[in-house]
Amino acid sequence: MISRVNISIRGAVQGVGFRPFIYRLAKEIGLKGFVFNSSKGVFIEAEGDRCKLEEFILRIEKEKPPRSFINSLEFSFLEPSGYEEFSIRESDSDEEKSAIILPDIAVCNDCLNELFDVNDRRYLYPFINCTNCGTRFSIIESLPYDRPNTSMKNFQMCDKCKSEYENPEDRRFHAQPIACPVCGPHLELWDAEGKLLEKYNSSLEVAADLILKGKIIALKGLGGFQLIVDATNDLALNELRRRKIREEKPFALMFSDVQRVMEVCDVSDFEKRALLSPEAPIVLLKRKSGENDIISNLVAPNNPYFGIMLPYTPLHHLLMKLVNKPIVATSGNLSEEPMCIDEREALLRLKGIADYFLVHNRPIVRHVDDSIVRIVKNREMVLRRARGYAPLPISIENEFDENKNTFIAVGAHLKNTIALTNSKNIFISQHIGDLSTQESYNAFTRITQDFLQLYPSENPVYVSDLHPDYLSTKYSQNSGFHSIRIQHHKAHIAACYAENKLEGEVLGVAWDGTGYGEDGKIWGGEFFVTDLKKFERVASFREFPLPGGEIAIREPRRAVMGMLYEINGEKVFDIYREFINEKFSDKEIRLIKNMLINKINSPLTTSAGRIFDAVASILNIRDVSAFEGQAAMMLEYAAIEGNTSDYYEISIKEESLYIIDWKKMIEELIFDSTKKPKEIIARKFHNTMAKIIKKVAEIKDLKKIVLSGGCFQNVLLLEETIKLLETDGRRVFWHQRIPPNDGGIALGQAYLALKNYNKEL
Ligand code: ZN
Ligand code: ZN
Ligand code: FE
Repeated sequence: MISRVNISIRGAVQGVGFRPFIYRLAKEIGLKGFVFNSSKGVFIEAEGDRCKLEEFILRIEKEKPPRSFINSLEFSFLEPSGYEEFSIRESDSDEEKSAIILPDIAVCNDCLNELFDVNDRRYLYPFINCTNCGTRFSIIESLPYDRPNTSMKNFQMCDKCKSEYENPEDRRFHAQPIACPVCGPHLELWDAEGKLLEKYNSSLEVAADLILKGKIIALKGLGGFQLIVDATNDLALNELRRRKIREEKPFALMFSDVQRVMEVCDVSDFEKRALLSPEAPIVLLKRKSGENDIISNLVAPNNPYFGIMLPYTPLHHLLMKLVNKPIVATSGNLSEEPMCIDEREALLRLKGIADYFLVHNRPIVRHVDDSIVRIVKNREMVLRRARGYAPLPISIENEFDENKNTFIAVGAHLKNTIALTNSKNIFISQHIGDLSTQESYNAFTRITQDFLQLYPSENPVYVSDLHPDYLSTKYSQNSGFHSIRIQHHKAHIAACYAENKLEGEVLGVAWDGTGYGEDGKIWGGEFFVTDLKKFERVASFREFPLPGGEIAIREPRRAVMGMLYEINGEKVFDIYREFINEKFSDKEIRLIKNMLINKINSPLTTSAGRIFDAVASILNIRDVSAFEGQAAMMLEYAAIEGNTSDYYEISIKEESLYIIDWKKMIEELIFDSTKKPKEIIARKFHNTMAKIIKKVAEIKDLKKIVLSGGCFQNVLLLEETIKLLETDGRRVFWHQRIPPNDGGIALGQAYLALKNYNKEL
């Protein structure tokens, strides 16, 4: 199948023969398209066979010119546009040089070689870096990106560093964070009270020893504090779970190298590429069955995947070398809060969690979490966009030449990110988190102001969610500037539409847990026909009440209760007495009955996410979730093990919009649940959900289908849906660089605002 790939490469790619290299490689593989050089980087469009494009991407990094260096390579697969040859396009000479702030990038091989070279003056120096690598976004205080505008400003360069910094021939020419043991930052090891135990590299040796003894170390890394423990030590992990009050949510791992990862997980070429990329994200990898004896079961209980990253700073490399074992490296925070960035603050916030603090004196200006990526059909799907990616923009097309306003989009409530439009770009912030925690909300206001300072605008227009109670909505309305509001699921569709550079009418499928609907109900299983100028909500699920409202998000059993009540009314407590008694205590039943019958705190919803939850509860996979999304995730994992192509019966009724009725499916599911293996039922349910999308696509007869919302983090659902739709000759678009979850909302808000409100406001 012919496809097109759009590749943005940033780094030392100018004046090193990069364009001719791309040209020759594309010709050799037989691709059409162009390569284009601008002040912002090298941009490539290539068209051809899917597998040739994949080969192209992998070979760019392997065969690039020796003096070139890639800081960031992002790619998205798009609709083919019919190029006839491969050409080198001339650079736009009058192109404005809008400042692109680079993300923080993994340490490069040249620096690594020096790091472990006994004769190098930076031998074992944990803050080694050069123009091609190291910290950026996390140390920038203001633009332009010069040393006095970074948190390195208080370190006076020594003569040797200064001469490297000033020498155009040197790899460290104008490397703003340049440093060495003589003039740069250094390490310290503190105890839990902040008392100094060790200085310089002996801190590392002692810390490594403590890790091997099962202690919990708070490490001041690149974009914030991480908590480090030995991933093979059950006792240490038990203690970390207890102290972090995190019973089941998987922890991220760091391995010293790819070979060791491959001993524990299946790793495809694209997964390997992601692990080794300058972005160095956490990659979700399938565990090999039965061979994971070395990693403690407490790392990711009942989870067939591990989230693994490789060391990305010299500090991590040094530590990994000393520990010589996989470690858990999880964010230094309580759940859903941003990472701590300051060592004094860390002593307070991580009190009672960390035994020791391995810190340094290079200030972190802003928190940047580790990013999370999953590979789907050889494409990256970024689930959390932060280190390595933020704040790189999504570029937008020329239709916005007349960009009259700067829009600042404040995102959603959970997995919050913000976005800002500036000329031909939409800049997207790093992951911020759940705004209901005070720490996250503070980070949110800080980053919003931060963005407005980095990309100044006289009269920004705020764009927020329709939900009147979201703190981000209130913040926008109190900003003193003009503000507009955009419905949650429309923003989801717009985000996916924008990153796939689509045009014309599409069927947008937005499935997630919760979003405030235009009728004041909780939406979450929505279908729109849209060209982004107009939205028509064309289909949705049959509504059901959620007894307890917010609580039902954490308790999948309440979603089933609501669905059964919707079908049966009060009689449900007789018809399903046994089933209900298994899931709730008598007291809970009385409370829920009262809520449902009297319509107290039982909002109506069309949420697809809650339907996944309900099914997880019916199958006894999860009645109460230990963390957000757990039930649906475990349901997906069960379904992967089930082999069937059956599906449940679904009826779609035409009313003011098409209503998808799940009544039969839920009844049959409950019936099946006592008779068939849960894996088979879970698979049958996934097949059914994909089939629903296929049916609506048939009814509306649209060729382009856009899939967005948290439900599409579910790879089985995603792949099954793509398969069914493509068999019907439709084209399917999903997320690649931007998260399908609420981390993508800010982009959608910004893009819709540009499309529809880009006039004098
Ligand atoms: Zn380097
Ligand atoms: Zn120096
Ligand atoms: Fe959402």
